[in-house]
Amino acid sequence: MSETAVSRGLDVLVVGGGSAALCAAIAARRSGASVRLVEQAPASLRGGNTRHARNFRLMHDRPAWYVPDNYGEDAFFKDLLRVTHGATDEQLARVLIRGSATIATWLDGNGVRLQDPASGVMPYSKRTAFFLGGGKAMINALYATAAKLGVTIDYDSEVVALAFGEDRDCEADILHDDRIDRITPKTLVLCSGGHQANIDWLRESFGDAADNFMIRGTPYVTGSVLRLLLDAGVKPVGNPSRAHMVVVDARGPKFDGGIVTRITAIPHGIVVDHDGRRFHDEGEDARKTHFARWGARIAACPGQIAYLILDAKGFGRALPTALPPIRADTVASLASAVGLNPAALETTIMDFNAATGDDDNVPAIERCTKGLVPPKSRAALPLVVPPFAAYPLRPGVTFTHFGVAVDDRMRVMKNDGSPARNVFAAGMIMAANVLSNGYLAGLGVTLSAVFGRLAGEEAARRAQPGERGDGD
Ligand SMILES: Cc1cc2nc3c(=O)[nH]c(=O)nc-3n(C[C@H](O)[C@H](O)[C@H](O)COP(=O)(O)OP(=O)(O)OC[C@H]3O[C@@H](n4cnc5c(N)ncnc54)[C@H](O)[C@@H]3O)c2cc1C
Repeated sequence: MSETAVSRGLDVLVVGGGSAALCAAIAARRSGASVRLVEQAPASLRGGNTRHARNFRLMHDRPAWYVPDNYGEDAFFKDLLRVTHGATDEQLARVLIRGSATIATWLDGNGVRLQDPASGVMPYSKRTAFFLGGGKAMINALYATAAKLGVTIDYDSEVVALAFGEDRDCEADILHDDRIDRITPKTLVLCSGGHQANIDWLRESFGDAADNFMIRGTPYVTGSVLRLLLDAGVKPVGNPSRAHMVVVDARGPKFDGGIVTRITAIPHGIVVDHDGRRFHDEGEDARKTHFARWGARIAACPGQIAYLILDAKGFGRALPTALPPIRADTVASLASAVGLNPAALETTIMDFNAATGDDDNVPAIERCTKGLVPPKSRAALPLVVPPFAAYPLRPGVTFTHFGVAVDDRMRVMKNDGSPARNVFAAGMIMAANVLSNGYLAGLGVTLSAVFGRLAGEEAARRAQPGERGDGD
């Protein structure tokens, strides 16, 4: 490795390349700061997990062309309380929710285009707005705006060391092309996501099961900056052994499968473990979001593997999938094709079929099994029509509920309870302050965009002459 080159005179260094980083960089630049953004991924894979996103959550008192009806501050906060079971920092949550009221127009002003819900292309939602062209288009628009505004953007650039303290410039060592550049910015904005792509770190919390997890997003979010902050005495928040997991097709890629590997047809069939046995009520939750509840269940199965089994009728009711299912004309040959014991699967299906009702007066969706453990409490229809189909299932990790504590100006909090006055964090690296449990659709991008914008503005303000060494 060649010698370290030192570059000085920068106001704000933004670390990361997803929505939090881009919103922070643009906001800081628009506030008059000189800004450099370093993204670990190559340009072709820039954008972190934001590439995979479709929509974002926003409060609004009246309909706008991009979102119907209304969704007020209290309704948003109530939804957040419900999914987190009350484990949210109310002050920060209200900063987030109020900030969401202006984020759509701010993004639009920075080149991001939204879907018109009247087009009918996306599902109805009064809580979220959808990006035209998805998260990738959003990311591309923000990169173009940042570049146009004069933000310096470096790809293939990994932050490998950080130093900061009161009344001095920060230091960041950037690994690029096998050499280290040391940058000494006045302020840092850390937007490098959580640690969900770091299997070794996941193993510390989930044991060997972590080896069988699929990571739905970018492999570059390894928590390296999060680790540097914790080692430097920044206060952790949340719990590294809690993760948002959904059920995904086990045949998808280990990383970056995105949303298309989700399996959304569980209520139309039965789910068995690697012994061919059912282990949970497949009809308990028939909403289209049911897949989010099955990730953790499959993570608890031996080998973290399970199989969705459908007959031809159930398959006909399912939405299309990225990969076709494994199909066979008999239950025994289907079992052999996926590596299950044929006799065990035949017994499970025979018992299941025998427990399904045949009362034609009961609508199919309302039928439940009788005397079966576990029951199937909705859409309990016998699996009898060939060909039979199977999807192998694994848990797919979206993010972990763990990060660093921040105050309401996005400054990271130290273990001694004081803020680091020139170090800011935004996005999933600090999401656990408001979301230490559960998930609300569209909250990830809202968190990143609203807190990213705020962190960028605060970092630029802090970098101004006269602002340094001030009090609060
Ligand atoms: C499949 C999938 C679908 C999703 N769909 C939605 C959705 O529809 N709506 C929604 O609101 N949310 C969605 N989310 C969640 C949402 O994408 C994230 O919450 C959001 O993108 C987080 O943004 P971020 O900027 O904080 O982090 P990320 O987008 O994860 O970006 C982190 C960035 O930091 C970079 N980085 C990491 N370490 C370093 C380092 N040491 N040096 C330099 N750079 C580094 C990474 O390369 C990456 O670019 C989805 C997530 C996934 C995985």
